[in-house]
Amino acid sequence: MIELMDLPFESDAFEPMISKKTIELHYGKHHRGYVDKVNILVIGTEFQDAELEDIIRKTAEKPEYQALYNNAGQVYNHNIYWQSFGIWERLQEELKLDILQQFGSKEELKNQLVEAVMKVFGSGWVWLVKQKSGHFAIIATKNGDTPPIDEGEVLFNIDVWEHAYYLDYQNARQKYAEQFVSKVLKI
Ligand code: MN
Repeated sequence: MIELMDLPFESDAFEPMISKKTIELHYGKHHRGYVDKVNILVIGTEFQDAELEDIIRKTAEKPEYQALYNNAGQVYNHNIYWQSFGIWERLQEELKLDILQQFGSKEELKNQLVEAVMKVFGSGWVWLVKQKSGHFAIIATKNGDTPPIDEGEVLFNIDVWEHAYYLDYQNARQKYAEQFVSKVLKI
């Protein structure tokens, strides 16, 4: 059994950038739905008592486990997503300086994140990952895919599924991306 994480803030904490209604649906229905689905799909498999990361590692690229992989990936991705809210204020100063030094400036980091969101075709995710080399990479994944789970440290992500922003921004994905980066990630 895997569990739905607690939401680390009140559902109205990021109004009006992300409305209470969006958070309640996104966390309470979508994220919970992925957790419930994983718990159904593992029944009778070798993954019944497995940890989430292990399920993702071992079901990737196995067609017979595609539904389990997709749902487990979405649980993992949303676990990171909720912890990304307000993240910039919690990162260590030294880490932030390293990131900004690599990207050149805060504006450039923000621009590149928004640009990466705009390049996602369909549903997916944008991530800032600290690779093992120490290099910071902005990467995009499709659908429920996670970044390679053992090849770096994920610092935060941005949900680029329409359910993350449609109620608040309709089709204005760029506006969502800009608001999310500046006022939710707080970069
Ligand atoms: Mn989502």
